[in-house]
Amino acid sequence: MKRHIAQGISALLPLALIISSCSKTEFVTIGTGGVTGVYYPAGQAICRMVNKKQAQYKLKATAESTAGSVFNINAVLNGDLDFGIAQSDRQYQAYKGLAEWEGRGPQQNLRSVFSLHPEAVTLLAAEKSGIAQITDLKAKRVNIGNPGSGQLQNSKDALAAFGITEDAVVAEYVKAVEAPGLLQDERIDAFFYTVGHPNGNIKEATSGRIKVSLVSITGPQIDSLIKALPYYAPATIPAKFYENAVNRHATQTFGVKATCVTSSDVGEDVVYAVTREIFENLADFKKLHAAFEVLTKESMLQGLTAPVHPGALRYYKEAGLDGHIKK
Ligand code: GLU
Repeated sequence: MKRHIAQGISALLPLALIISSCSKTEFVTIGTGGVTGVYYPAGQAICRMVNKKQAQYKLKATAESTAGSVFNINAVLNGDLDFGIAQSDRQYQAYKGLAEWEGRGPQQNLRSVFSLHPEAVTLLAAEKSGIAQITDLKAKRVNIGNPGSGQLQNSKDALAAFGITEDAVVAEYVKAVEAPGLLQDERIDAFFYTVGHPNGNIKEATSGRIKVSLVSITGPQIDSLIKALPYYAPATIPAKFYENAVNRHATQTFGVKATCVTSSDVGEDVVYAVTREIFENLADFKKLHAAFEVLTKESMLQGLTAPVHPGALRYYKEAGLDGHIKK
């Protein structure tokens, strides 16, 4: 009996090998952010577009919730993830060996794929904390962002622009997903989150018992910051996105762009397939999240500091879009 089974298996082996080599599906993972942000649904949207063509590309993509931009860039570089969503400023810093990468040198294997939605450096404060502007944060309990997130450096930059040191606030370093709960439980007075709008996190933070407003971050200090650092640009958060927020006017601040990055070690065909499916089906892709409403093919080629991956470039050349690529 045993011999029979063994013979049967050995007879089937060559056939099994042929089948598996013809239909071998490659699994790719995309690092995102907290589940209430925009990176996570963005990663899921990318997967949805790519997985529709699973039979054609033999590619199955999955999105993972992570600590954010800095984590994603590092995980992509060490091969733990194939793609990551990361802020354009973090892409710039990693490629040039700045901020968290200072001392580790330029991350030369980092490659850009495309940009996504704009992200605003968003400051939320409980009304009763009396925080009407960023300078009111002194001595207040403020979540400035978890290690591994993109927002941590943006919060520090925003505070530093106004001469506020990290020690001058009672800084917390928790994940953005926890911040709305902490604000509503009165365990923090305010939090920073660099994120696209609208999103579930800010809706949650502004919809509870405690009244919350979005605080503008403007002034000559921010004008100078934008002038000094090429990745920062002015940003506006429309009031219509958060009907329960105390402020009924738009919030003025500064921001960056969400981008999709990969490593030079990821295969050309994989990156080509992902790029092609998003660009060729952009109208459908945009329907998957309200923050994508503003996307255009041209805007998706801006904010790319790291060299464009050859797989993405192949598609951009084919589509006649390569002339639009901008740092
Ligand atoms: N910008 C945030 C970060 O880099 C993530 C925002 C989001 O998840 O939408 O960590």
